[in-house]
Amino acid sequence: MSAQTMNTLIEDQVLDLLSKMTLEEKVGQMTQVDFTVIGIPQDQNPTFPIDHQKLEEAVLNHHVGSILNTPFTPDNKAQSIESWRKMLMTIRDVSLKTRLKIPVMYGIDAIHGASYTQNSTLFPQAINMAATFNTDLAYQEGVITAREVRASGLHWNFSPVMDIGRQPLWPRLWETYGEDVHLSSAMGSAYIKGHQGDDFSAPDKAPTCLKHFVGYSFPINGKDRSPAWIGERMLREYFLPAFEAGIKQGAPTIMINSAEVDGIPGHANFQYLTTILRDELGFKGFTVSDWADINRLYTRDKLAASPKDAVKMAVMAGVDMSMVPFDFSFYDLLLDLARSGEVPLSRIDEAVSRILTVKYQSGLFDFDRPTPDPKDHFATPQAVETNRQAAHESIVLAKNVDQVLPLKKEARILVTGPTANLLSVLNGGWTITWQGDAEELYPQEKSTVLEAIRKKSSGTVTYIGGQSFDDEIDIDRAVSEAANHEFILLCLGEKPYTETPGNIDSLMLEPRQQKLAEALLKTGKPVILLTLGGRPRIITALAEKAAGVILGFLPGMEGGDAIADILFGDYNPNGKLPITYPRNTNDIVLYDHKPIEAFEWNVYNPLYPFGHGLSYTQFETSGLTLSKQQLQMGENLDVSVNVKNTGNQAGKETVLLYLNDVAASVSRPVKQLKAFKKIELTPGQQQTVTLSLKPDDLSFIGVNLKRIIEPGEFKVMIGNESRSFTLIPSSESSL
Ligand code: BGC
Repeated sequence: MSAQTMNTLIEDQVLDLLSKMTLEEKVGQMTQVDFTVIGIPQDQNPTFPIDHQKLEEAVLNHHVGSILNTPFTPDNKAQSIESWRKMLMTIRDVSLKTRLKIPVMYGIDAIHGASYTQNSTLFPQAINMAATFNTDLAYQEGVITAREVRASGLHWNFSPVMDIGRQPLWPRLWETYGEDVHLSSAMGSAYIKGHQGDDFSAPDKAPTCLKHFVGYSFPINGKDRSPAWIGERMLREYFLPAFEAGIKQGAPTIMINSAEVDGIPGHANFQYLTTILRDELGFKGFTVSDWADINRLYTRDKLAASPKDAVKMAVMAGVDMSMVPFDFSFYDLLLDLARSGEVPLSRIDEAVSRILTVKYQSGLFDFDRPTPDPKDHFATPQAVETNRQAAHESIVLAKNVDQVLPLKKEARILVTGPTANLLSVLNGGWTITWQGDAEELYPQEKSTVLEAIRKKSSGTVTYIGGQSFDDEIDIDRAVSEAANHEFILLCLGEKPYTETPGNIDSLMLEPRQQKLAEALLKTGKPVILLTLGGRPRIITALAEKAAGVILGFLPGMEGGDAIADILFGDYNPNGKLPITYPRNTNDIVLYDHKPIEAFEWNVYNPLYPFGHGLSYTQFETSGLTLSKQQLQMGENLDVSVNVKNTGNQAGKETVLLYLNDVAASVSRPVKQLKAFKKIELTPGQQQTVTLSLKPDDLSFIGVNLKRIIEPGEFKVMIGNESRSFTLIPSSESSL
């Protein structure tokens, strides 16, 4: 069946169903409750966590359209495949008892793999995926995640995060694809494509959810769920495009910004949720609120005078489904509002038809549809291999003085620091539990950095450290042991976190880590500094003295092995920074900064720039050529460059194409990434890489807040070279 015929069929089915539904059934569809509403409390030690009576109360009496389960997952931890399947079958059986047999949609945060299913393939987090600059890996992650989510009987994934990571303090920076608009759009789109395929009702596919629309990632004080001030030009230039890309890629659901922008909470923002999202971006799917955020318009934001007022405000702004999550208050209040005519039926019908459409598109009405057999669709050897490749490509070698790395396998290494011997620090939040910090629940067969090094080493590996992140490390012993070793691997960073529990007041490293590092750097032994964690903590003084620096961020379940492969030269590193690594805690400058930020006394001087990342081989980029010097409006431009591996090992290199609009009516960034390509070269091999610039790549948000293209000179930059071209004026300069 063609996509067109399919859509018409679904439209008819939705209209037909809608015509049979009572108001109660409609309002129920817009209600999403947390698992606790249908669950048996953990301390009552249930053999099966669902309370049938409560489930029937939710689905049969309140007609709820959706259930989710975090942070209070059943038993507050990841479940086995069998347990998930049983739970989802139980929910399915109750939805089959509803008058119109409408399926319940179950939402889950499978943000780096099926994170709430035991032993799933857990990929590097998004910040690391971005560091791979490899869209094929993002695609593969989507394919594998959807398959494992579906093998678990689950069917809706609250992922990917399309927020742009331009505020390093923010405790969810690592859930983003970094600071750049083009990179985030490309990685997110590839992930969606893999996750959904051409038809997300297929047995191994599932719908995605773009989040958190829009401006959530840019809190002015760095704290989660706190205000952003984003003028419309900035919104359109930096924060909307990745969502637009995700919508174009077919993501059918969008979650709303939990905080506020320019004084308007995300859930009350008619301009964002309706004017921009629907009328401008043409989004056809449904929007879901974030956790408890409709009621917070009353309890927190003081925008609404009562909980009822809050419901009205949010629904009329454009929220289609409410993540309530703990009760049926939304259902009761919306029913009242609809009965009194304060919320028109047309708005309810609109929201419900969007929800039903996605349910049909997801194949949920086919109650007997197959699910992938876990035997050959869950954590397969190939999936683990792809995950290891993603981890390899996501690790950034930032410094390597006198080629201290790779180490010889027979080297005598002292390993220390709080991140050396934990799996949780490789994975971060949304892993097995909400905060990801339940180390005891991690699969013991996976390797920490220390364990992976021990597997590979034929020399001496001595570990000085604790059992948990917060254990005191005996600094005196570490210093005296250093004398017996050739190298020190110093593993610093952060313990796992997400959302508000991850808030910090400073990017500085914890004092105890700083003390350990200073003492070891004084020993004179070469120190290799490895950092793990979701944010760039300030390491400037340490990095200056260290012989080697590896920025690991959150490389996932294969991260320990991947780091050991890189340390010993079994893998040639090629990750590149998807953020600008700050030199100091208040020196937050992004790569696509304005000229004024590096003018006169202002200096742009990060510790490591966006795109930085070393290899064990060397690459030379030369011969930058443009297909034209004069470009007409609407034409593409081909940009070619030769890349040569001048070192003595095979390796991967990413070509990054930056553009600068030399003079414009609105001040333009010094450069912006517009295209990239990753290639692999053997020693001595050379390849010509051609990248294409499209007309839209020359555009920006003009004085009139519309996207425009202005004629004139543009500069293309790759590596150390730059070339200019001129865009010829034409009568039609607006897109
Ligand atoms: C987070 C979302 C998440 C949701 C459901 C919220 O607190 O902000 O990213 O999808 O919870 O777990």
